[in-house]
Amino acid sequence: MAEELVDILVPIPLLEKFSYLPPKNSKYPIKQGSRVLIPFGNRTLVGVIWGKRLQGSADKRKYKRIKEVLDAVPLLSSNAMNLAEWSSRYYHYPLGEIITYFFPPSLRKGNEASFRQSKYIEITSKGEFINEDLLSNAPVQRKLITILKEKKEISLKSLTAFEISPSAVTGLEDKGYIRRFSRELSPYKKLESKQQSKPHKLNEQQSLAVAAINKGQNKNATFLIDGITGSGKTEVYLQAVQEIVAQGKQALILIPEIGLAPQAEERFRDYFGDRVMSFHSAKNDREKVDAWLGASKGLIDVIIGTRSSVFLPMKDLGIIVVDEEHDLSFKQMDKFRYSARDMALYRAKLEKVPVVLASATPSLETLKNVDEGKYELLKLSQRATGAKLPSFSAIDLRGKVLNEGISSDLIEATESELTQGNQVLIFLNRRGYASSLICKTCGWISNCDRCDALMTVHKNPLKLHCHHCESQKNYPEQCVSCGSDDFLTYGYGTERIEEFLRKSFPEYKILRIDSDSTRKKDSMDNYLHEIKKGEPMILLGTQLLAKGHHFPNVTLVGILDADSGLFSADFRGSERVAQLMTQVSGRAGRDKKPGRVVLQSYCPDHPQIEEIISGSYEKFAKKLLEDRKASKVPPFAFQAKLYAESPKSLVSRDFIRGLLKKTPLSENLRKDIRMVGPLPALMEKKSGVYRWELSIFSKSRSKLHKSLDILQSKLYDPKTTKQVRWSIDVDPLSSN
Ligand code: ADP
Ligand code: ZN
Ligand code: ZN
Repeated sequence: MAEELVDILVPIPLLEKFSYLPPKNSKYPIKQGSRVLIPFGNRTLVGVIWGKRLQGSADKRKYKRIKEVLDAVPLLSSNAMNLAEWSSRYYHYPLGEIITYFFPPSLRKGNEASFRQSKYIEITSKGEFINEDLLSNAPVQRKLITILKEKKEISLKSLTAFEISPSAVTGLEDKGYIRRFSRELSPYKKLESKQQSKPHKLNEQQSLAVAAINKGQNKNATFLIDGITGSGKTEVYLQAVQEIVAQGKQALILIPEIGLAPQAEERFRDYFGDRVMSFHSAKNDREKVDAWLGASKGLIDVIIGTRSSVFLPMKDLGIIVVDEEHDLSFKQMDKFRYSARDMALYRAKLEKVPVVLASATPSLETLKNVDEGKYELLKLSQRATGAKLPSFSAIDLRGKVLNEGISSDLIEATESELTQGNQVLIFLNRRGYASSLICKTCGWISNCDRCDALMTVHKNPLKLHCHHCESQKNYPEQCVSCGSDDFLTYGYGTERIEEFLRKSFPEYKILRIDSDSTRKKDSMDNYLHEIKKGEPMILLGTQLLAKGHHFPNVTLVGILDADSGLFSADFRGSERVAQLMTQVSGRAGRDKKPGRVVLQSYCPDHPQIEEIISGSYEKFAKKLLEDRKASKVPPFAFQAKLYAESPKSLVSRDFIRGLLKKTPLSENLRKDIRMVGPLPALMEKKSGVYRWELSIFSKSRSKLHKSLDILQSKLYDPKTTKQVRWSIDVDPLSSN
């Protein structure tokens, strides 16, 4: 007799699915998207049912049986499964591993998909009619019965407040007077979502934008809100989301940084009350499961989350917003190298909902799609509060004497703003104290042993850190090479600038905000709270401060090192610098007071610095697009990379060479793709391994993927050497 075979996705790095026989006496039905426990080698793994088919009885013995189906109702919808399948093909990554991204950790482990269970006791009918005198020699039991007669039920937790011991509970339970039960505690109440604060009256451009998005409801359309910093982009998508939520649908808001979550959550809560939830890596598993369940059961209207939220199940998704769509954080840089923005676009296509991308500095990919009419452009060209864009000027550092990297012009400007009661933002995209340590006697320099990089000096505590491999060393008391103790701390980081600013402005508060100072939970929150108070102070920080924050009292932004990143070897370098500079500058003058931006530069007449000073990202982006077109690189060609890393440089190189040799691509494919490499990565040695890469470009997406398919099949060949770790990166955004 033919029996059904069930195809299961297993979370292991192999491309195939595995087939199993159905369990003997299953509690739950075999359904696509449900989790199962399966024997796998000598382990038991949690897999996901992908499909079933009939199989002749002859080979039945070849298969093992599913141990157990874990879910009464499938946890993955067919849309989720389609999204997973698409991304596996697109990113050339094993489907079984991708599936794990769809679950919070405990669901991955096979735990029950339910809200927190709380234990209760209730009175039985036997207990209702008990003669309390029977309990006269058990006063605590008697007390509990009296309480339960009145309240009917009570949670076990609250019994201590009544001074009732567990033994009293067991005593009554044994006599059958009371009974225990558990109840699921959903943190979400199905309230009417009521608007708490009055929405802003929109200006004309904002109204047009909201109207356009509303017209795109219930179908797949992509919008770009391209608005200068502070132009009210958030307000536009808030009001568009309101329409969607009013119809009982849900919104998924993707933001790049966990640091932006509190601000966004607060703003959404103002509009939508409690049915708003954020989802990011700082949440514990319980909170993640709650948000996951809340979204999938439709108990939450709005989910605000970072990259991985794009996988969250939504009962009735109505819109996806990707705020700061240009941001690199949307791309995962290891393992499954997906772009959350691009996944959002595909998901919206599957679920037939609109996507809103928003940015003051849209990516070149997105701008090209707008040019080609694929996305609808919604332009906001004025600041919503009526404030003007900040004015820009450069401080020419040539020939100037600097104090710890700061010119006297910038110090004076800072002082002047502070005395007027304003806040000043000083930007330096380098954390730590100094970029390196040099022995003045013999020239020894603080190289990292594991990377082609210098170790940064950190003062608090005093150590050397490598920012590339995270290794740390004690600060040397003597030079390891000549024994001298005369060191030079070379270059500036935020810690050093902080030290200098504290000396120069002792009477003002100075907040240093970088990934070191915000490591603790809630610290970013506390800083933002401090800034919001509006007192005059200096905010000193890295790109963490540049993104999306609204600081109404900042009137001056000082960029200490505008030249960093000007001479990047990566063709995407100029785009990044322009975006970062525009974003930082956008923190100035966002409210009533006008703002200005000062850039310190040794090459103020470099075309890129000139463009930034002219204040037009749009013009700059146009020019960059022309350059990219001329050199036939993305977004005018599709790109993928193959990385190989191993403890020996030549092994990595030869791995790629060998792969190319044994992978004959047809003439037809060859003529439409361009291969560059294998070349060493920009930082060849990192964390003790040597990295080489092969770049493939093509004008045809399908040809690019076809060649990747062919290469990939050889990569999984068991004969391929195990000495090399390899990965595929589709639409790479930076060097590995
Ligand atoms: P963006 O997202 O473009 O940076 P926001 O939506 O955060 O801009 O708006 C910037 C500031 O302007 C916020 O304080 C916001 O409350 C305010 N704002 C937005 N739209 C309006 C409006 N139509 N009228 C008055 N203030 C507005
Ligand atoms: Zn020395
Ligand atoms: Zn290192």
